[in-house]
Parts: sequence; C-alpha cells; structure tokens
Amino acid sequence: MKAEIVSIGTELLLGGVLNTNARYLARKLAELGVDAERQTTVGDNPGRVAEVFAEAFRRADVVITTGGLGDTNDDITRASAEDFMGGGAGRTILPNRRGYAEGFILESGGKAIIALPGPPNECEPMFANGAAPWIRARVSGTIRSRTIRLCGIGESSAARAIADILDSQSNPTVAPYAGRAEMYFRVSAKAGSAAEADALTAPVADEIYRRLGEYVYAEGEDATLAGTVTAELLRRSLTIALAESCTGGLLSSAITDIPGASGTLLECAVTYSNDAKIRRLGVPAETLARFGAVSAETASAMAEGAAKRSGADIGVSVTGIAGPGGGSPEKPVGLVWFGIRYNGVTRTEGRLFGGTGGREAVRARAVSTALDIIRRSIKEI
Ligand code: ATP
Ligand code: MG
Repeated sequence: MKAEIVSIGTELLLGGVLNTNARYLARKLAELGVDAERQTTVGDNPGRVAEVFAEAFRRADVVITTGGLGDTNDDITRASAEDFMGGGAGRTILPNRRGYAEGFILESGGKAIIALPGPPNECEPMFANGAAPWIRARVSGTIRSRTIRLCGIGESSAARAIADILDSQSNPTVAPYAGRAEMYFRVSAKAGSAAEADALTAPVADEIYRRLGEYVYAEGEDATLAGTVTAELLRRSLTIALAESCTGGLLSSAITDIPGASGTLLECAVTYSNDAKIRRLGVPAETLARFGAVSAETASAMAEGAAKRSGADIGVSVTGIAGPGGGSPEKPVGLVWFGIRYNGVTRTEGRLFGGTGGREAVRARAVSTALDIIRRSIKEI
C-alpha cells in the first residue's frame, strides 16, 4: 500500500499551528509498513485541495487527510473528498469520541480517502481505533520494530560504527534518529508473522549491541534516559543528591519527572553563585578562587558536598558555561564539568558541548550527560 498524508488548514500554512498530526501519522504508517513518500500541506481552499488529491492519487492508493472536518464554512474536507471520489464511493464512518466532527473513509475504484479531524486529541485516537485497523487488514505481513536507545555517543560516530549494516540492509531496515543529546536506532522487519519478523530483527539488533552495547541504555519506544537511570537507582536501593549550577535544576527536574523518584532522590541544590557553593555544599573558597567555578576541582567538591551533607549514597554535580556570554579561550562556552561521588571516591569528567543550539542545547546535553555518568557509574557499583 502506498499512502500520502495531506494536512489541510490555512493556519498550518501560516505557521500558526505546528503540524504534529503529520508527524504522528507518518510514524504510525511506518509502523504499519505502509510507504508514505510524500506529505502535502494545503490551505482551506476547495480548488487547491482538489488539485492536491489529483496529484497524490497519481502515486498513492490511499490519501489520509487531517483538518477541515468540522461544520464551519472553512471546513471543506468532506465536500472536497466527496466531489473527488464521486457518488459511487463506499463510505465507512469513523466515530469521534473526543469531539463532534466524524471522520470517514471513502473508497472508490481501488482508491481511498481517509479523513481525520484536525485537533490532535481527536485525530490520533481516530487513526488508532478506526483507520489503523482498516489499513492493517489491507497490508500484507507484519512490521515489527525494536528501538535501541543510546547515549554518550554522537549520531555520526554511532552510524560509522555500523556503517556496513546501514548500507547493506533491506529487511530489516535500520534507521538512525538523533535527538539533541541522545539517539536511537530503529530496526524494523517485515514478514508474514510477528515471530518471523522478530527472527529477522534479532541478529541485526545483536550485532548493534555487540558493537555499541556500552552506549545502549534502554530499548523501547517510550524509554527515557531519566526513567532508566531512576529505575536503576531504585532497583539497587541507592540514594542520590544533586548539586547543579549551569543546569539550574533541570537535572533535578528530569529525575523528579519520574514517578517514584522520591525513593532515591534525597535533595537537590541549585548553587548558582560561588557563595552558595561555599555555604550549601562546603566547596572551599580557595578552590573557587584558584580553579574557578567551572573546573574539575569545583565539580568534585560540589559532588562531595552534595553526598556528605545529604547523607546520600551518590552525589552528583554539574557546573559549566551555558553561554552565550561568559566564555574565555581557556574555558569556552559549552565547557561543563561533572562530578560524581560514591563509595567514598569522587570522579570528574569534563565535556565541551560545541555546535549550534546555544544555551538551551548546552544545558540539555549537560543533563543527559550527567544522567549517563550516573548510569555508567552505578553499573560499576
Ligand atoms: P473542528 O471540528 O475542531 O473544527 P476540524 O477537523 O475542522 O475540527 P480544523 O478546523 O482544521 O479541524 O483544525 C482545528 C484545530 O486543530 C486547529 O486550530 C489546530 O489547533 C488543530 N490542528 C489542525 N490541523 C492540525 C495538524 N495538522 N497538526 C496539529 N494540529 C492541528
Ligand atoms: Mg474546523
């Protein structure tokens, strides 16, 4: 089956609304094993929508639309779809449990238009409950995917490590996806049954683990680094305390986002000024004077202070220069020092987060790196 996604709405063209439906549908179609090679966004204009239908059906057998399904004047999808398919089209109604506008599937001459509403909280369940079963019944075989999540390695290094697999693959396919601080590979195989598909993905996934296993923190569509690390701390009954400077509480926030974090996280100190580092963590004033706030020595003293003053098993610190100002030739913007203390030993790691993305990216990458350092350290405990 070949499908195309057509997003209908002038507000999408004007940049007023982010087209999250297209992303959702694209992901779901990929999971279903449907080729979706183009997406179109078009305004609420019957003539232009008709043109888009004509063009999309030159390539695809199914066109999935979102938006313009309501009953106000600017909602033109229903009339456009009916005009295009003509009177002889079979119709399946897709009920809307979250809103008023019903969706539908119009079929005629081997082609189908699946029309879904614009609001994502209506579009997504209608696709999942109404459209996906219809599609599944019409595509042969099953797609099974494994999402292997990595941190502590850049996308290009990870891709290089498995370049031969990326180049040679067809079934399963292996696709790399890069986030700001983490990445994952999705290994997907198509076969007659789930078991056959799993048997195709297994050796490729095993090979990825063999080469990059030390960077793999979890598998799964919904796994997160913070969730994995927090679960591991809880599993090992380890307590943790955090001392943050440049991340301003983001690391604490990432961990407290996870339900059950209170079972491991004792306290977090956001010590932005030197004075706070001295007063709340016991960082020696001379350490700050001699090495500066962004240094291995200060990171070490912060982690030690966090562990000792809270009584936690593990103390973790982050101190860096998020920018855009504050950098120097010796200590450029993006330099971040991390400290971790456990079992009476304190270790430090320094990273330089370059590239684009600015302050926000430096802080986000610092959070992921701190979580990764915790992950790797507790593996050794
Ligand atoms: P309604 O009955 O709510 O009018 P509708 O199907 O007519 O539903 P639209 O009028 O096109 O939907 O859009 C309603 C709202 O849904 C938009 O204002 C926007 O917030 C959201 N929306 C529309 N299309 C998208 C999209 N592609 N991605 C994300 N949100 C969207
Ligand atoms: Mg509308």
